[in-house]
Amino acid sequence: MKIQKVEAVPFSIPYSEPLKYGLRGFLKSADHLLIRVMTDDGITGLAEAMPRPIIYGESQKSILWAVEHWLAPRVEGLPLYALERIWDEIEPLRGNNTAKGALDIAIHDALGKTLGMPLYRLLGGWTDRIPVAWMVGQKATEEAVQECVEVLEKGIRSFKVKIGIDPEKDVELIGRLRKALGDDVTIYVDANQAFSYDEANRFLPIMESEGIALVEEPMPTWNTKGRLRLSQRISVPIIGDESATTPSDVEREIDLGVISVISVKTPRTGYYQSRKIIHLAEQAGLSCIIGSQADTDIGALASAHFGSAFKVFSHPAELTFFLTMKDNLLETPPKIEDGILVLPEEPGLGTRVDEGKIEHYRLDK
Ligand code: MG
Repeated sequence: MKIQKVEAVPFSIPYSEPLKYGLRGFLKSADHLLIRVMTDDGITGLAEAMPRPIIYGESQKSILWAVEHWLAPRVEGLPLYALERIWDEIEPLRGNNTAKGALDIAIHDALGKTLGMPLYRLLGGWTDRIPVAWMVGQKATEEAVQECVEVLEKGIRSFKVKIGIDPEKDVELIGRLRKALGDDVTIYVDANQAFSYDEANRFLPIMESEGIALVEEPMPTWNTKGRLRLSQRISVPIIGDESATTPSDVEREIDLGVISVISVKTPRTGYYQSRKIIHLAEQAGLSCIIGSQADTDIGALASAHFGSAFKVFSHPAELTFFLTMKDNLLETPPKIEDGILVLPEEPGLGTRVDEGKIEHYRLDK
């Protein structure tokens, strides 16, 4: 039960349409990496690493380099179950959290497959069914409303709307969505830090009157005093995402008292560090939400297992982005029916990568 080999495969899958978010966020394809951990028993664990240079400073090439030259040599030969020793080996390497996170998830997948147990059970076993939310990128108002109405008809009842470039247009969109979707549907917003304090202070109360449930990162995370003042003036709970990317970030945010909900993204904290984050959140009385990193079906399934394992995830999880990609990579992509993702009962992540597809989309041929 030893880690024999770790490999990283860069790939690219186009999105059906570009994703726009925040002031500069623009993605037109999933230029991610497949991380594979092979054991001496012939088991293969897998995970997805998502580079976000403008958020974490990691690129597809830097992750490939980090896995091949720094991480793989440190963990190859270690027992698969020795999660504390594995972390002790890779932790001293500064940064590179996405590379470390994906390696950690692939090791957990291999461990689940070795033990014959699905990951959501191995991690905590809270539930095997997780409600999901739909994310709407920045786009024309009419288009966004139409998209949400169609998604609601498929049974998804929670909508995260990317806002921040034009607050007046955002206010109009939220009003239109409330009218089109009805009062029972959850609508929340993510500004990706794009508002100034004055804009947030002026426009968020109007969105509150349209019943938004949560607001994610309304202002630049460096503006701690402004964020604190804003949190004292609005009643809608604030989600921490870019402000809460590591356990020590979360500890600082808890002390600051701005956020009520933490977006947990397993691509940046793996399972090992994500556990530390949710335990800090629980102790401070905060809730958690599974965040999206525009994952393919591999990343979505990995996050679904983590989000299903623990009670602290009391909000619908952001696990639907893979549905907007032109293709999937798993033999059996996650199934979402009536707004619920049901976890597979097979060991580990519960599926394998479709080798034909990874051959087709890999960039290192
Ligand atoms: Mg966010």
